[in-house]
Amino acid sequence: MTRPHYDITVNPAEKGREIYALIKALYPICRSITGNGVRQTLEMLQRYIPLKMHEVPSGTEVFDWTVPREWNIRDAYVKNSRGEKIIDFRKSNLHVLNYSIPVHRILPLEELKPHLFTLPEYPDWIPYKTSYYRENWGFCMRHRDYLGLEDGKYEVFIDSSLENGFLTYGEFYLKGEEESEILISSHTCHPSLCNDNLSGVALATLLARQIGMTKCRYSYRFLFIPGTIGAIAWLARNEEKARTIKHGLVLTGLGDPGKMTYKRSRRGDADIDRVVLHVLRHSGRPYHIFDFDPYGYDERQYCSPGFDLPVGRLSRTPYGAYPEYHTSADNLDFVQPESLGESFSRLVDIVRLLEGNRAYVNTNPKCEPQLGKRGLYSSIGEKERALLWVLNLSDGGHDLLSIADRSGLPFASIQEAAFLLMENYLLQPWTGESLQK
Ligand SMILES: [Zn+2]
Repeated sequence: MTRPHYDITVNPAEKGREIYALIKALYPICRSITGNGVRQTLEMLQRYIPLKMHEVPSGTEVFDWTVPREWNIRDAYVKNSRGEKIIDFRKSNLHVLNYSIPVHRILPLEELKPHLFTLPEYPDWIPYKTSYYRENWGFCMRHRDYLGLEDGKYEVFIDSSLENGFLTYGEFYLKGEEESEILISSHTCHPSLCNDNLSGVALATLLARQIGMTKCRYSYRFLFIPGTIGAIAWLARNEEKARTIKHGLVLTGLGDPGKMTYKRSRRGDADIDRVVLHVLRHSGRPYHIFDFDPYGYDERQYCSPGFDLPVGRLSRTPYGAYPEYHTSADNLDFVQPESLGESFSRLVDIVRLLEGNRAYVNTNPKCEPQLGKRGLYSSIGEKERALLWVLNLSDGGHDLLSIADRSGLPFASIQEAAFLLMENYLLQPWTGESLQK
């Protein structure tokens, strides 16, 4: 019979350390929406999972967008009149405005200043800035250092290239018993930033490896894509395939110490929304759930009206709600193995629930079956309540999750009751037609 072959146990502390180690390895790479940093990142992930790398040529039209030219950078600095490097890309890749065009000039401070970006409210942090779709060059620096700049001439040097090339993304597909897919998407376009970017990438990679070790009901598709343009490019190239996505999650910001946060899909009542709500409610930990809005990460593209996919977003503290967001302080101290391990556990709970959620039908619907004579009933406790709830609501119209939610019992108890009832021939999978006619 009937017990799920999908079963994995997780040691959150150990998993948290493993995820953190992967983040640490990926941290130094200078990523962007295109370029070798993305390739290097995906190559590193290939040590964990056999993901496929796709290359989309610059200039490719993807819906209303065009894949941009490929950006690569080798070095960059600003030197003062004494020849001292006062900004050095080799010390932090956040120092360069991401997608800066090449430049080598000597100019006075007044002409340099419009190209400098700082965070006056956090004078010791370097901001993260990009200019993907407008040609520009610039440097990001600590405001404290900016205040110390002397009048005089500065040498600016950015050894970058912006040329026809490719947009690179990674895709890992696991075939399950069903064609229907679960999509897990994370963005790979940020340079040395840990929570925003690497936590999602590392968690998705370790989850993919874990799921790959077992037989699953659903097929799984993991996407490692540059934000916005990557999701748009994937959807444009896979419009038909996207229709088989039955449940989906965008993963990002999963390593900070804040509480788990879920952003509902555009539909608001998709199975993934019900599943995550149930998991967080029964996690015994604080959580926050909010409704869809059309800004944020790649859920914007998956939930655009022409697709309207059942894709929500799982994070901890939402982006923008922590000051470290898009600064050098989103670093290896900001993300913690404990938080990463807890996030991983919740993800596994979500997958387990998605895999196990089905509708069944009571084979003895006219009055209650006599549970006592089958050894299923002693005194009324959670186990017996779960049996009675499953028998009563298994009419084909309720899946196990809706029974769990209506009874207030955790999904695992309801699922266990369903297995017991099936072993006693009192329940069978619903095949689309009610037996109660
Ligand atoms: Zn970001």
